[in-house]
Amino acid sequence: MSEKSLPRVAILATGGTIAGRAGSSLSHEYKAGSATGAELVDAVPELARVADVQVEQVCNIASSNMGFAVWRSLVARIDALFTDDPGLAGIVVTHGTNTLEETAYFLNLTVRHDRPVVLVGSQRPATALSPDGPLNLVNAVRVAASPDSRGRGVLVMLNDEINAARDVTKTNTYRVETFRSGDLGFLGYADADTVAYYRWPEKRHTIHSEFATGSVGDLPKVEIVFGYVESDAQVVIDALQAAGTRGFVFTGTGAGMLSDVEKAIVQASRDRGSDLAFVRSNRLGNGRVLPHKEHDDLGIVAADNLNPQKARILLMLALAHAADLPALRRIFAQY
Ligand code: ASP
Repeated sequence: MSEKSLPRVAILATGGTIAGRAGSSLSHEYKAGSATGAELVDAVPELARVADVQVEQVCNIASSNMGFAVWRSLVARIDALFTDDPGLAGIVVTHGTNTLEETAYFLNLTVRHDRPVVLVGSQRPATALSPDGPLNLVNAVRVAASPDSRGRGVLVMLNDEINAARDVTKTNTYRVETFRSGDLGFLGYADADTVAYYRWPEKRHTIHSEFATGSVGDLPKVEIVFGYVESDAQVVIDALQAAGTRGFVFTGTGAGMLSDVEKAIVQASRDRGSDLAFVRSNRLGNGRVLPHKEHDDLGIVAADNLNPQKARILLMLALAHAADLPALRRIFAQY
């Protein structure tokens, strides 16, 4: 392929460890979001062999500080890039790994284009002895440039593995194989010879998402309540409700079960006629939360196999679109 015919890929840089710098090549103490996107691209000349890349800096932060303002900027910028440039093959977002799965799922629900958006990060900073970021970045660009990536929703690329935004979660503090899709497995590989896919995400996303309108308005406050022995859920929920929370995701124990105290809190809220939304996820990392009469009768929606942090994102978007209880049940079954 001649240089001229290379696919064009835009890179939106947000920071993270992939842009992190340490004082020593052996240190785990580094500052995430130190290098710019342009510096990352300049450091990897191999990128010019796989695509014609352009880079923009959206922010330069550790992803533990990711926020809705950046999410809104990303949705708007991705929309403008794809709308204004029909020849653009795909977009890569560089991102810290800590909250990468949340940004990926949010974009999966809000981007109204079927061309690939690929999130990429790294477990080791750019200055490490053996950084994983440069190859992850090359692979992310190759995945974004591949016509086979189209229509699969937002993708996550690290460790040569392509995961679906909905299914993937960070599972390990420091190992490079940290992003896993649990029972469901990843979608494919990015290898030296090709980008190879083996399966297709089934749940609604991007052009099939009712939340993909090109921009995102205000998001209601939705919080997560973690379930464990003798949790003081009443204190937590009262405080969060006083702070304006409109919906709660319970990280239930086992198959998404709530304690009697938590169920009584929901019952009391129903008795007061409040319109708080309640969703049940679980803390296990795999498997579905099924509808369950006792919880259903309280108007608590089962999160299927979404983890709590993703169930929260779906609930925020659903409430922003004025979903009532039947709509919430449909939405959690479809996304
Ligand atoms: N602190 C980093 C972050 O921005 C961690 C990482 O990128 O792996 O999420």
